[in-house]
Amino acid sequence: MIRIQQLQSQIVEPAGLKGQYYEQRPQNKLEWFKNNGWGYKDTKFILEQDGAVRLTGNKYRFSNQRMMKFKDWAEAKVGIDLSLNCEAQAEIPANPPIINEQFMNAIQGQFNEISFDNGQRILHSHGHTMQEIYELRHGKLARIVDCVVFINSHAQAELLVKLAVEHNVMLTVYGGGTNVTWALQCPKEERRMIVSVDTSRMNHVRWVDRKNMTALVETGVTGKDLEKELSRYGVVCGHEPDSVEFSTLGGWISTRASGMKKNRYGNIEDIILSVKVVTPTGTLSQSLDYPRVSSGPDLNQIVLGSEGTIGIITEAVIKIKAQPEVCKYESILFHNFALGTEFMYKLSRSKVWPASVRLVDNNQFQFGMALKTMPHSKREEFMDKVKKYFITQFMQYDPDQMCLVTVVFEGTKQEVEFQEKKVFELAKSYKGFRAGAENGERGYFLTYMIAYLRDFAMQFQFIAESFETAVGWKNVPAVCENIQRRIVEECSKRGVEKEPFVSFRISQVYDTGATIYVYFGFGYKGISDPVKCYSEIEDAAREEIMKNGGSISHHHGVGKLRKQFMQKQIGDTGVEILKRIKQQIDPKNIFGNQNLI
Ligand SMILES: Cc1cc2nc3c(=O)[nH]c(=O)nc-3n(C[C@H](O)[C@H](O)[C@H](O)COP(=O)(O)OP(=O)(O)OC[C@H]3O[C@@H](n4cnc5c(N)ncnc54)[C@H](O)[C@@H]3O)c2cc1C
Repeated sequence: MIRIQQLQSQIVEPAGLKGQYYEQRPQNKLEWFKNNGWGYKDTKFILEQDGAVRLTGNKYRFSNQRMMKFKDWAEAKVGIDLSLNCEAQAEIPANPPIINEQFMNAIQGQFNEISFDNGQRILHSHGHTMQEIYELRHGKLARIVDCVVFINSHAQAELLVKLAVEHNVMLTVYGGGTNVTWALQCPKEERRMIVSVDTSRMNHVRWVDRKNMTALVETGVTGKDLEKELSRYGVVCGHEPDSVEFSTLGGWISTRASGMKKNRYGNIEDIILSVKVVTPTGTLSQSLDYPRVSSGPDLNQIVLGSEGTIGIITEAVIKIKAQPEVCKYESILFHNFALGTEFMYKLSRSKVWPASVRLVDNNQFQFGMALKTMPHSKREEFMDKVKKYFITQFMQYDPDQMCLVTVVFEGTKQEVEFQEKKVFELAKSYKGFRAGAENGERGYFLTYMIAYLRDFAMQFQFIAESFETAVGWKNVPAVCENIQRRIVEECSKRGVEKEPFVSFRISQVYDTGATIYVYFGFGYKGISDPVKCYSEIEDAAREEIMKNGGSISHHHGVGKLRKQFMQKQIGDTGVEILKRIKQQIDPKNIFGNQNLI
């Protein structure tokens, strides 16, 4: 194809992921992805006899290395009781499928792969909230899809939607299954046959245009495979959510996702130029790559964040960028979260924004330190002690207050040098101390490990989850304080024995505000319905967020988890407009997943 100009180039790996990251995975996801938890089957945290914690497998930078401090930290600071045990059930129950015979006859021979396997049906009926994983480990999903159809082209998407409309079958679209909003949960009361449309075979980069710096991409491609393919042309997409290994372009568009390096590459809405969507009333086809257009309201915006409610997004034209010459991690210590926040605010004013800059609070800083692997030599051990002494004794950083800004610099050598100079100059005026690349990289590594760690904690009757919001700068401190207060209050009301673990990160900066990302968890020993208890507290925290000026979500989206807050976010008229759009596009409610409204 004329547009393609292939170059051999270097692959840039996300932090903490190593060589194996780009290895081909078997087509059948059940072969390599856990059926009741996050990530690769061979990768999990285990507690060894001598108290070391080790990450099994070989996929990550710190795989197979022993973490000696994690156990003590988890017991003392997080309140995980590692003597408790809570094994997951061996088999996940599944109800028999509902079959629409006429539909099945109509699709026979039209698609290469149709599966009624219970493992596939379950895999395609959940995302990765704590509640869903808990059900997989100890209970049952109330309703699961009846079969899975793997489509491999736009034409197949059109055919499937046409037949679903004809035979009144419900469709639900599956990307990487990594959502954290119950977006893939099937409505319990749905009596029609539910077919999951698996997009993973639709994963090709159709063309790359290095002059316009655009590419046409099928939406079933995962972030990992997209970057691998683009690297052959010396370019990157750069969209790097923490789920980048498994989530897909279609999922990112549907959920309005945000990547860690948004300062350089933009959020998904900045990356997408146009989309192709198969809806029950026809195909919205605009595979265009104009730099901008004035042609009435932007239809991309109806698709971005549509959460699988209007159709199957099959293709998108995306912006691409040349591979960065330099990619560098750094970190800066601050005496406390307030000073760190002030630094982030001033950085937002300066407009010198590294690809990623995040402020983690003291809890998360300690979390990162607890994941430190054993020193490789006596010299390394000695140097660690010297550094610690220097920081706490000489520089007077309080170990229970200090927090860390982690930074990813990306760009040309000159760009990175300029940004480094400006960032460290600014940090100095807030008594920031440059703490090196290793701490920076470990900070990002933690975010790739967090879902593995959540699963580890679940074995010990400890449940945890993250949630996030976007908030104007002036409300940042109030949102953090009030979330903390409310969670503690709600936990104590419900008889949670130990103090819950709550930790904050400012994960993105904007001109007008920031993204606040929260980890929250507690030990549920003695609580009869931990999932209900957790959900009530999470809802209370969201109520508090919105009361204090935070949004319903910055990037996770709404799904069914936060639907109850939509009216508050967009108002009655907003809800009505969304309802009518949905009704016009999908009058028979074929895409009946009940997300959003
Ligand atoms: C550990 C972890 C880290 C995460 N980090 C981030 C992060 O940094 N940033 C972020 O934004 N999110 C993050 N998420 C949330 C999640 O990864 C995103 O919401 C992601 O965009 C979902 O993509 P997916 O391909 O997995 O979609 P799925 O979970 O498969 O689907 C999500 C929704 O999109 C719909 N959908 C999927 N593909 C299509 C399509 N082709 N056409 C129409 N509808 C479709 C589905 O029907 C569903 O409603 C994280 C989640 C986890 C578990």
